[in-house]
Amino acid sequence: PRIEEKLFQNRYLVDAGRPHIRIRPHEKPSAALLAMVDTCPAGCYLETDKGTVEIVADGCIECGTCRVVTQKTGEIEWNYPRGGFGILFKFG
Ligand code: SF4
Repeated sequence: PRIEEKLFQNRYLVDAGRPHIRIRPHEKPSAALLAMVDTCPAGCYLETDKGTVEIVADGCIECGTCRVVTQKTGEIEWNYPRGGFGILFKFG
């Protein structure tokens, strides 16, 4: 099956008011952060009309890409969701 069909089987439990990924306030994102708009597999990153980058982490599959990519820039604060929250992978 296509990856979209597989991803559809995963379930999310959103920890309301406690996003596990935050972007530090910035005027201009680094190239690495801006690239996440196109590379986050869950489409969590958005470029605003001010040229800043925002995140809506509800559909995050916790792949860790944004964490690795922005490790040096320090623009993202990334924590695993609290136990029981976040993505629940379904295998098979
Ligand atoms: Fe997107 Fe992966 Fe970062 Fe989640 S961890 S926001 S899915 S790049």
